[in-house]
Amino acid sequence: MIYKNVPMVSKVVFGRGSFSQLPEILSPLRLNSNAPFLFIADKVFQGNSYLTSRVPLAYRDEILYVSVDDEPTTYKIDEITEDIILRFPQKPSAIIGIGGGSVLDIAKAVSIMLTNPGNAESYLGIGLVKNAPIYHIGIPTLSGTGAEVSNKSVLIGGDGKSSIVSEYITFDQVILDPELIQNVPHHQWFFSAADCFIQSVESEAGHYSNALSISHAREAMKGLENILQADIDSESQQEQLMLGSWHSGLSALHSNNGICRALSFGLIDVLGLKHAISNCIVFNALSDYFPEKVEEFKQMMLIHNIDLPQNLSSNLSDSEIKRMAKISINYQDYWKNAFGNSWKTKFSLDDIIKLYNKM
Ligand code: NAD
Repeated sequence: MIYKNVPMVSKVVFGRGSFSQLPEILSPLRLNSNAPFLFIADKVFQGNSYLTSRVPLAYRDEILYVSVDDEPTTYKIDEITEDIILRFPQKPSAIIGIGGGSVLDIAKAVSIMLTNPGNAESYLGIGLVKNAPIYHIGIPTLSGTGAEVSNKSVLIGGDGKSSIVSEYITFDQVILDPELIQNVPHHQWFFSAADCFIQSVESEAGHYSNALSISHAREAMKGLENILQADIDSESQQEQLMLGSWHSGLSALHSNNGICRALSFGLIDVLGLKHAISNCIVFNALSDYFPEKVEEFKQMMLIHNIDLPQNLSSNLSDSEIKRMAKISINYQDYWKNAFGNSWKTKFSLDDIIKLYNKM
């Protein structure tokens, strides 16, 4: 038996309004006046003074706004890294990511690429990063993926969706301020919370799970069930969602994703769907595997007036569905987590195609 030995975030602040502590958190980290603090922030905050007025800028510090209309690619990481190398006289004192899972993954990968030669694509995989990264801080403004606590940066590159997995990827500092997620649009809020719920369900049920991952998954599910079964938007819900994401991310660190994520990656590749909604579409079709949890999820959608896109497969050709299935089956670790080491005897390409035809 080989037990996973996973890296953890070194420092965490949790609390409403804790984002305002950014100046005192950053101040001891400044290397010198030529080594800036670079804030990589979701473009949705450009011109939003509630957030940007509290970002302390001095010397050569800058906010770099990034669009997350498309999921992050290795190409985008190389572009941002090159821009930083060309425009600043020294390496940054710290990279600070402010946004949802997409921006957090960009910040993680850029901090790695600033100290490692070559392009981001060559680091997709496990344990390929050699040099310690720039100090990096994650500040989630959307909770659900668990990216704030994970040891990976999920990027599109190579043959599709993949990850840089490294102990160096984990954030050095995370600031969890539930106030920052208060203006997330309702639909996005639901899909992110549901994504987190689904990740916890899979992590708990997985063959890689153990008492530690199960305890985090259950803690996450308890909070998420509370908030997804009530149609109110309160401060306590924001807190519970932020904690749910944290626990579910911790759970996945010790366990893994499963059938839902593997199928979702096929959908994202062919249909260009966004991460959280794609997971919801897939989970909705998994009643044979998680009967009670899928029923619970359907009730949650009713409470929140969520209409998921239906009959996606009817607009797809057989060859497109086959392509999705082939992409999906390549995520062998997820299938192993779902069905065990002998998963190939329990699940085939045809089973995957049948499931896609239900979506
Ligand atoms: P996202 O970061 O792509 O954001 C979704 C939408 O919400 C965007 O339009 C964004 O602008 C908006 N948004 C974010 N914060 C907001 C706020 N406070 N107010 C209003 N709008 C806001 O969504 P996500 O689901 O958090 O992240 C998805 C990405 O995370 C995918 O690329 C996925 O692969 C990745 N991911 C990473 C991990 C990991 O462990 N690293 C795990 C799961 C998923």
